[in-house]
Amino acid sequence: MESPDRPAPSRAAAPSSAAVSRRMSRQRTRDTAPEKALRVQLHRLGLRYRIHSRPPAGKGREIDVLFVRARVAVFVDGCYWHGCPDHSSWPRANEAFWRAKIEGNRARDTVISATLSAAGWRVVRVWEHEAAGEAATRIAAIVHQRGLESR
Ligand SMILES: [Zn+2]
Repeated sequence: MESPDRPAPSRAAAPSSAAVSRRMSRQRTRDTAPEKALRVQLHRLGLRYRIHSRPPAGKGREIDVLFVRARVAVFVDGCYWHGCPDHSSWPRANEAFWRAKIEGNRARDTVISATLSAAGWRVVRVWEHEAAGEAATRIAAIVHQRGLESR
């Protein structure tokens, strides 16, 4: 006698890319909320800076915030796109594709940091999850120190 029960439909095939697609389409590369919050805090600390400039050594991702005289380059890295250890969650759909993309971003970050360091810049990376006030305080200390050194 056959059982009328059937196994529950597998969830493995459920479309899971909708959320991922939304996240992709929301991606912004400049003037993100964490970036703006950081700039407000830096300004509050009396720092003056430039924004959105290419590294002096040429191409690559724009530096989000720069202190030209002190030669400090600040990047605000999105937790998802740059693989934050606390918040990176690999999407299940097309996992290999996105993993490669994120790892590519991280590899590029490393190259950019190395290039700037070799040119005498101090690179500061801020995760988007960091409190803007704390990040700004950390950056201010570095800028002040470097500013004095460069005189
Ligand atoms: Zn994070």
